[in-house]
Amino acid sequence: MNESFEGIVLFKRPYRDNDALVKIFTEDKGTKMFFVKGLNKPNHPLMSYTLPLTKNQYIGTINQQGLSFLREGQSLSMYRHIQMDVDLQAYAAYIVQLIDSATADNEPHATNYQLLEHVLDKLNQQLAPQLITTYVELFLLPQFGTHINLDHCLYCDETKGPFDMSLRHQGLLCSKHYHMDEFRLRIHPNAIYIVQQLHRYALKHIQSVNLDPNLLSELRRLMDEIYKEFVGLRLRSKSYLDQLEKIHDEANLLKSMREKNKKDNQEQADK
Ligand SMILES: [Zn+2]
Repeated sequence: MNESFEGIVLFKRPYRDNDALVKIFTEDKGTKMFFVKGLNKPNHPLMSYTLPLTKNQYIGTINQQGLSFLREGQSLSMYRHIQMDVDLQAYAAYIVQLIDSATADNEPHATNYQLLEHVLDKLNQQLAPQLITTYVELFLLPQFGTHINLDHCLYCDETKGPFDMSLRHQGLLCSKHYHMDEFRLRIHPNAIYIVQQLHRYALKHIQSVNLDPNLLSELRRLMDEIYKEFVGLRLRSKSYLDQLEKIHDEANLLKSMREKNKKDNQEQADK
């Protein structure tokens, strides 16, 4: 039976001859795998409605189990900035895989659908993709079965930093209690502060900010350590994002070295 529904395309992969499987997060019925006959032939009418990271209105048949089918599509959002920007695309691809991993197939999940929708809107506005990514990682932690105390020190009621993170005790240590875990992560306290803020506030409060690259890499190290220890996912989109960030870090380093050289030369010349 045909029905009308809204959904966001998570990914698409080839399947026999020219056919394809398209995974779509539907608003009302959760994540579903769709079979699209001949999708990889040129000028297929569903081509632009099956592009990953787009939101569309569809007409099709949704089955409770097994494959579902698409008949028609209509674009709701192409998220153009994401489609055109390699970096934003890499962040979005990782977030999509993360949300997909946390969401059971074939079951409605309004919370995660709204999260994905909201995140794509935010990324499309080109706002602080690293912070948005961290927000999503924090948001999904309980869904992966991990609860980390980010409100106060584990050993006293200290709510003001500086704090460090203890993976062993799953929470924060204030400077008086650093000694309670010799393997504490030794993360820059400002990175912990950012995580506390992201944990406390809704996604809509995230604005474009210029954060120091060293602080961002501390933030990344913190979240990577938490995910490695408690979640243990190996996502291809994450390795790709890591490589991309590494290239940017190196480019930034080179740029700051060049600027320093230029400044030094200028000072030499002024003498
Ligand atoms: Zn303490």
